[in-house]
Amino acid sequence: MEASAVALQEQILQLEKQARLLEPTAGKRDEVRKKVIDYGEYFLNHLENLPAFVSGTDGSGLLSFPVQEEPRAVELVLKLLRQHVDQPGLNPASGGHLGYIPGGGLYYSALGDYLADVFNRYAGVYFTGPGAVQLERQLVHWMTQLFGLPATAGGTLTSGGSISNLMAVICARDASGLKSRDVERAVIYVTEQVHHSVDKAVRMAGLREAIVRRVPMDEHWRMQADALDRLIVMDKTNRLAPLLVVASAGTTDTGAVDPLADIARVCRKHELWLHTDAAYGGFFQLTEEGKALLQGIEYSDSITVDPHKGLFLPYGTGALLVRNEEMLLRSFRSHAAYLQDAEHKGPSPADSSPELTRPFRGLRLWLPLMLHGLKPFRACLQEKLLLARYFYEEVRKIGFDAQPPQLSVVAFRLVPAGDANAFNQQLVQALHHDGRVFVSSTRLNGQVFLRAAILSFRTHLKTIQQLLGLLEENSKKLMASQNL
Ligand SMILES: *Cc1c(COP(=O)(O)O)cnc(C)c1O
Repeated sequence: MEASAVALQEQILQLEKQARLLEPTAGKRDEVRKKVIDYGEYFLNHLENLPAFVSGTDGSGLLSFPVQEEPRAVELVLKLLRQHVDQPGLNPASGGHLGYIPGGGLYYSALGDYLADVFNRYAGVYFTGPGAVQLERQLVHWMTQLFGLPATAGGTLTSGGSISNLMAVICARDASGLKSRDVERAVIYVTEQVHHSVDKAVRMAGLREAIVRRVPMDEHWRMQADALDRLIVMDKTNRLAPLLVVASAGTTDTGAVDPLADIARVCRKHELWLHTDAAYGGFFQLTEEGKALLQGIEYSDSITVDPHKGLFLPYGTGALLVRNEEMLLRSFRSHAAYLQDAEHKGPSPADSSPELTRPFRGLRLWLPLMLHGLKPFRACLQEKLLLARYFYEEVRKIGFDAQPPQLSVVAFRLVPAGDANAFNQQLVQALHHDGRVFVSSTRLNGQVFLRAAILSFRTHLKTIQQLLGLLEENSKKLMASQNL
């Protein structure tokens, strides 16, 4: 062999020795895995007694341990995580998390992620991962059936509700045939209570100049369908171009469900795309009560749901369902020469999403659904509806004003003499300081309300009773300190 070829080989083999360190031996895997699993297990076994919120530290201790050339010991790395990442702030895994819209963290999803990462199946293109793609299509099909969409329906698993909403706005835009020069005449109909990701989606979809109309709501924060109809008629008369209606099936603030069937009727009449944002409320469809409340969702042109909310998955899984799959493909299908072996071999998620390479996110949904079956999910969701009702009844007994829950969010406030907004803000701060149960606050018509959003699969009666106790105790203390 030529001297230069020998030298090159030598150099490659030297590098290989280093590169192979990225593949730990079975013994090393065993050692690291045990420590990592032990850390997770310790957390789960003590979760009941951990606070839902920790204030005062900020994770900046991590900055003393930058990325470096040499490896660090697993013990140190886990200690850094424990001190600086897994303690400060909100503990979303806690059943005491009643703020915003709680997520979940099903254990079998973690195991699904583990397997998805170890095998790293490519779920973007049918040719390369037919089984992985099939598994995700089966899940999407389960959801389109759950929501009563027709056989033409399709969808895709996304990273969350915001991206699903963005994709829905893009589908509606493309389906309408809107030209850029006409964007100023396009009209989108929402309520004041629509999720802010929809406003963001409208801007990202190139519709910044479109008109966004806030349709009036009834006293329960629900869109008024007849007002929607009147606005559309008025806009058409004024030669504007109605484009899209976004209904909410469970708003973030109060859990309000817009009258979906009535809104759908208006959309049909005017041939308008109806997108239903059911990121929070969608999976209550698995309960009899929820199904009755969501009646009409089956007429939607597209639906956003978030398995990382209503199916208790860890963060990172949403879904967009579209009544006519062709509309989804029309917006997101694309071609590349280097993918020529893979094209047209079967339906591929890459054709119905902005993503090409993506995690095999179906597995974290499929594994818990398979291993648990649907029954405990239905029970858990029904339990949440009843807990909200229970909290609504009990919190009024201790003097609070509250809005009757439609789903599992209760907005409530105390109205003492003096500045009620300041009082309720102080009350929420006192609860954050205590940390055992975490609630967040919002403003409705300028009034500060606390919110109990009950959706963690770990929230049970005991948690709600603890919250009631904390509210009574802290509000009394605050009143006494202010001589109220
Ligand atoms: C949570 C939520 C969203 C946003 O979903 P992400 O998964 O957080 O991106 C959109 N709409 C509603 C009603 C939500 O509750």
